[in-house]
Amino acid sequence: MNARRAVVIGAGPAGLLAAAALSPAVDEVVVLDRDELPEGPEHRTGVPQSRHAHLLMPGGMDAMEELLPRAGLRAELLAAGARETALSRDMVALTPVGWFRRWRHRSHVTITSSRPLLEWVVRRAVLRCGENVRIRRARVTGLRGSARRVTGVRLADPDGGPTQDLDADWVVEAGGRGTRLLTWLDTIGVHGVRERGVDSGLANATRVYRVPDGARDWPMTLIQADPWSGRPGRSAMIVPIEHGRWMVSLGGMRGSEPPKDPEGFVDYALGLPSPLVGRLIRAAEPLGPVHVSRSTSNSRRYLEDAPVWPEGFVVLGDAAATFNPIYGQGMSVAAHGALALARALREDGIGTPGLARRVQRAVGRAADGAWTMAVSTDVLYPGVEGGRATPGDRMAAAYSQRLTRAATGSYAAAAALWDVTTLRTPPSRLFRPDALLHSLAGPPLPALAGPPLTAAEQAFLSGIG
Ligand SMILES: Cc1cc2nc3c(=O)[nH]c(=O)nc-3n(C[C@H](O)[C@H](O)[C@H](O)COP(=O)(O)OP(=O)(O)OC[C@H]3O[C@@H](n4cnc5c(N)ncnc54)[C@H](O)[C@@H]3O)c2cc1C
Repeated sequence: MNARRAVVIGAGPAGLLAAAALSPAVDEVVVLDRDELPEGPEHRTGVPQSRHAHLLMPGGMDAMEELLPRAGLRAELLAAGARETALSRDMVALTPVGWFRRWRHRSHVTITSSRPLLEWVVRRAVLRCGENVRIRRARVTGLRGSARRVTGVRLADPDGGPTQDLDADWVVEAGGRGTRLLTWLDTIGVHGVRERGVDSGLANATRVYRVPDGARDWPMTLIQADPWSGRPGRSAMIVPIEHGRWMVSLGGMRGSEPPKDPEGFVDYALGLPSPLVGRLIRAAEPLGPVHVSRSTSNSRRYLEDAPVWPEGFVVLGDAAATFNPIYGQGMSVAAHGALALARALREDGIGTPGLARRVQRAVGRAADGAWTMAVSTDVLYPGVEGGRATPGDRMAAAYSQRLTRAATGSYAAAAALWDVTTLRTPPSRLFRPDALLHSLAGPPLPALAGPPLTAAEQAFLSGIG
């Protein structure tokens, strides 16, 4: 029998994790990326979003560890400088209905680091664990094959010569948000894929700071956007990352976009319902310019419902579904999609007829929860394009507001909420009897008058004026 080759388009999180999933099932995995990948944790042009804060949710981390069981991924990330934040204990967050408390429990541990560091650690782990995986620089320009089966990819010649072909028994498209997937599918005869886009018009502005002396262990700090006020959402977060730095991201929806100039950046943060983030960054040394991203719409291609689907072809990560980044879900959904691929390959074997279609359906299901959460919230903001709040959305919004209020004074209610927002469990978790009871009963503890800071944190804050 001939050696089996899988080709993966894109060496972002989805592509790397797809390579990990495919490695045991084939003789060779070739990951293609148009970028020259850096030796270390550095930015690259193919991933412009890497200038912005990237939280790796517990649900995503669990999926990555299952995909790379021998990699010691968490330890590798921490050794490289990534930070762990237990949302229950190490986070200071103002929701639209009050401050979350900080509890003694250490749960819902989220990894924070720069995106280049995260990607670099995952890349090293995939290459170390999958000895048959190699990465090659090449830009893919199309698919080969037919609507029945994909048989490879077309590559642009780096020197401007004719295109080349690369044969494959299995192809994964993980080319990210800018994918040309639907055009590629059209050329092999797969038509009629339904698409949906919901765009809140979020502009995300990010600047990196050196953590000020005395604030080394300052907790992750969030001022959340308010979807229930009828006004454009505005938010801010301070995310601790490697090498004693804070990555500070401000988010403003259409009509309330944060400015790019350094003074306006601080003023915007000071003008939020709590000035906490603004006060902290006013006292910190900036380490670079403000970067702005507007590639923030939710967009989904319902590939799982396509009238026909070719054998040997799967689409993962942002190429299949992208989310408003304010919810921090994209990489975790990509990891869940790759895990669906790994499980199907393990259970059914790569040659099983109809496998690609089954995997694509599982990838769609893996995106459903995050999609519902992001879109049903975004449609509540004024000026959103591509969707309107239905009566069902408004009812869900009223319920989620009640549960969030309960979560400000109850660990059990907060845990139910975080189980879902960190992609550990599907949104149906919010309708279990315990969560329903919490939302009806409201918070058992009174609302906090200000941020829940330790004595040392309070002293630092007073010290900076
Ligand atoms: C401002 C912002 C903040 C975000 N914050 C978070 C967060 O906090 N948490 C989170 O989980 N997610 C976050 N995301 C989303 C996250 O960046 C994506 O979900 C994630 O990168 C998706 O991974 P991917 O591998 O599908 O795509 P990408 O990471 O975009 O990787 C795609 C790769 O494909 C390559 N490529 C593209 N086309 C071709 C081609 N034709 N040939 C060869 N190679 C190609 C590119 O060079 C790139 O390396 C954020 C996004 C934005 C915009």
